[in-house]
Order: sequence, then structure tokens, then C-alpha cells
Amino acid sequence: MAEASPILSLKSVRKMFGAHAAVDSIDLDIAEGEFFTIVGPSGSGKTTMLRMLAGMDTPTSGDILLRGERINDLPANKRPTCMVFQSLALFPHRTVGQNIEFPLKIRGEVPESRKARALQLMDLLRLPQSYYAKNVLKCSGGERQRVALARALAYDPQILFFDEPLSAIDYKLRKTLEKELKDIHRETKKTFVYITHSLEEAMVMSDRIGVMRAGKLVQVGTPHQIYSAPNTRFVSEFVGDVNVLPVSLDTDGRLHSRLTGARLKPPPVPEGFSEGHLVIRPEFLRFLAKAADADNAVSGRLYNEYVLGSRIQYQVRVGEGVFAVEKLRQQAFTGKLDDDVIIGWDAKDAILVTD
Ligand code: ADP
Ligand code: MG
Repeated sequence: MAEASPILSLKSVRKMFGAHAAVDSIDLDIAEGEFFTIVGPSGSGKTTMLRMLAGMDTPTSGDILLRGERINDLPANKRPTCMVFQSLALFPHRTVGQNIEFPLKIRGEVPESRKARALQLMDLLRLPQSYYAKNVLKCSGGERQRVALARALAYDPQILFFDEPLSAIDYKLRKTLEKELKDIHRETKKTFVYITHSLEEAMVMSDRIGVMRAGKLVQVGTPHQIYSAPNTRFVSEFVGDVNVLPVSLDTDGRLHSRLTGARLKPPPVPEGFSEGHLVIRPEFLRFLAKAADADNAVSGRLYNEYVLGSRIQYQVRVGEGVFAVEKLRQQAFTGKLDDDVIIGWDAKDAILVTD
């Protein structure tokens, strides 16, 4: 499949605040129509990056290109892009219709066509048509979020930017809105650039994810790549619970784990690797009848279990270490707390990282 040409390109983009680089030498291409998410902990530079992309701030050095044209100094209102603010930025005491039609009104569209477009957008955003005349203050949090997005779409921007729009919304509604946003992306075919501190949220919606740490983009990939092939310990630990074992490579090609004393068969070893961490996702660990049933096995004691909805997580203590093992509920382990157990995994299911 041919790569779509980039709609946005960042070339060595840097933003200094005094002596501190909030965004540090970022190179990135975002493809037309892509749902690209920037994820990273608080303070990693996500908002600073988005503000530069949206034209609310200018880079200290480097270039931002929109379809190949340098736009570093083009102000936000001159760009064919739109920032979707949290629902707080809606006009209070105005109706849903007035809020959505605002961009069309300033563009001079006549009332009938404004209303037709507003109703169309309400349909897309799954807002009942009867809400057209409803005061936005009487809408729920989730409805207001949809109105804010409908208003942004009324500008008909080429790129929509989102800065943690769902962070203040409770869990269940947030999960619904994540999926709706992905559906809306699919229907509008526009480019979405989204920011969140939750890699879990990023995974649900995104075509690609860029992980930020201290102003740098440390990994860019599909959700699948980020999950199954994290390039650093930092990225591997960013999503869910993960088992991370400090290991060193012995001369015979086996890994030595200080924590468990075990000697382990490694996954493919990166060039020049001598010591680092072995990462094993909890779902790749199995309870074994005997040690020979997997490439790698360790003996321990079942310490506790946690019900995580459809999955159950087991905590197994091995030497000085603790392993998390996860099974689907219908494949639950039948052992009792304090049982001696053997757990294991196949070499190919682990990942070696250096950082
Ligand atoms: P994030 O959105 O990932 O939480 P930010 O982009 O808001 O991170 O901030 C990145 C870093 O830049 C932080 O250390 C923050 O304190 C600093 N920073 C952000 N904006 C400013 C500013 N206007 N002046 C000085 N420092 C700033
Ligand atoms: Mg931020």
C-alpha cells in the first residue's frame, strides 16, 4: 500500500522556555486522514507541541510544514485547522444550534443553510434533532462534548486538534466517547491529531501513536507495534501491568535474572545487547504442570488474585520478584492462595529492551 503524502511535517521542531526544552528536536510526518495520537505523561511537552501545530505558539527552531508549505508563523485563524476545546469553551446561555452554527454565521451563510448543516452535524454526532433549540447548559457533559466537536466540524477544517478532551469525563462515558470519536473520524475522513496521557485511550482510537517523554518523541508506531514491540522500558510500562525483569546476557547466550536466579532463553537479542530488561506481558505467562512445558519456567507461590472484569490477574511471588499473570475468566486458574506454582512463557513472547 502506498504511503499517503504527509499533511503535516515537523522538522527538528524545538520549543524553549528559558533554558528548558519543552519540545526537543521532533521530526514527524502525519499522513492525510490519519488519526494520530501523541501520548506521554504530564509535563512531557504534548500541549506545547499541539499549540505549535495549531498556530497558537511558534517554534524556537525547526519547521512545521502543511502540505509542504512552511507555516511556522501563520496564526491559528489563518490555518485550515481547528482546535477542539473541552466543552467549557461553548457559549453558555446559547442553544445547541447557535453554538454549532457559529462558524457558519461568521462566514456569512444564510440561516436556512446554517440550520441544515447544524442538523446534519447533530446527526453525525448522535445528538437528537430536538436538541437544536436546547440551551447547552441543560445538556449533559457528554452531550456538550459532542456539541463542541460539531462546532469544530462546522468550520470544515482539514485537521482537528484535540488536547485531552475526555480527561474530565467519568470512565464509562469516556469509553463510549472514545469509540464515537473513532467512528466520527471514519465518517469525516479528516486528519485528527489527538493528545492524551492515557496510552489505553490512545490505543482504542489511533491509527498511529507517538510516545513523548521529556520533550522527545521516543517511539512512533501503530497501537499494535507500541504494545507488542515497545522500544524502551518506559514505553513498555506505559500501558497496563507488565512484568519487567532486569537481566544480563551470559556468554552462552542465555539471560541471567538476578531477581529470580533463573537462566532464561531470550527472544531475539538486539545487536550489542549485554544487559537490560526482559518485558513479559501478563497474558503471555501460563501456569505450567511441569517446567518443561514452556521455553522458560520459574517456581513461585500464588500470593493473590484480582478480578479485572473479563480477566483475572494473579500475583505470583518468585524469589525476590513478583509476576503478574492474567487469564480470561473462562480460563481461570484453579489453584489456591499460597499454593506452590510453576509459571512460564515462551521465548518469542518476551521483549528485550535496554532503556
Ligand atoms: P503536557 O501537555 O505534556 O503536560 P506541556 O507541554 O504543558 O506538557 O509542558 C511541557 C513543559 O513545558 C513543562 O515542563 C511545563 O512546565 C513547561 N511549560 C509549558 N508551557 C510553558 C510556558 N508558557 N512557560 C514556561 N514553561 C512552560
Ligand atoms: Mg497538556
